Amino acid sequence: MANCKNCGRTLTADEIGLTQKMINRGATEWMCITCLSKFFSCDEELLLKKIEEFRALGCMLFSKKK
Ligand SMILES: [Zn+2]
Repeated sequence: MANCKNCGRTLTADEIGLTQKMINRGATEWMCITCLSKFFSCDEELLLKKIEEFRALGCMLFSKKK
């Protein structure tokens, strides 16, 4: 299982997907949504919306909702 490179928290598949989508598709280090929001100086809420947007677009990096 992957961990956040900043705070060490265990990451979800969505957080890994979001890092790849927003920073680098080939990233081998990922950040949790809290650290990503700090990195981009935005709200976690906004990133959660982004995840939903990417999922709605059928992006392969995000697992489908069951
Ligand atoms: Zn983190």
